[in-house]
Amino acid sequence: MSNITFTMIKPDGVANGYIGKILDQITSAGYKIVAMKYLHLTAKTAGEFYAVHNGRPFYNDLVSFMSSGPIVAAVLEKENAVADYRVLIGATDPTKADVGTIRNLYAKSIDANAVHGSDSDENAAIEASFFFSSLERF
Ligand code: UDP
Ligand code: MG
Repeated sequence: MSNITFTMIKPDGVANGYIGKILDQITSAGYKIVAMKYLHLTAKTAGEFYAVHNGRPFYNDLVSFMSSGPIVAAVLEKENAVADYRVLIGATDPTKADVGTIRNLYAKSIDANAVHGSDSDENAAIEASFFFSSLERF
């Protein structure tokens, strides 16, 4: 059971005006926002964040998409944060995401899919530390 997960509202979610709606869905689901920032990733930083996908067919497009506009990055705290957040966001492909999930409501395609969510406790810790120092977590 994990206590934190890491999320981003991706460039499409920001550009389509869904920051407020997505944050409301997150806090309504019981998450505490431990850290948050609004920033525009460089291609280098996006490539480092998604290094685990380097070599996969969608990697280059993913890096350019994630550096195409500003994002919201946040650390979220709740019991069982990682697994519950994956349920809240829905499947990677929004056409397969359950009704009412964030990706079902706000994503347009498998690449522009509104939000990121960590896939394990280990990656949640790595991803949170990639964006936030201990002084930036409350
Ligand atoms: N992605 C894509 N095409 C694919 C698979 C993934 O464009 O066929 C993108 C998509 O933005 C996804 C991200 O790469 O969110 C990371 O992929 P992952 O399999 O980790 O999906 P997630 O954990 O985000 O659901
Ligand atoms: Mg993933």
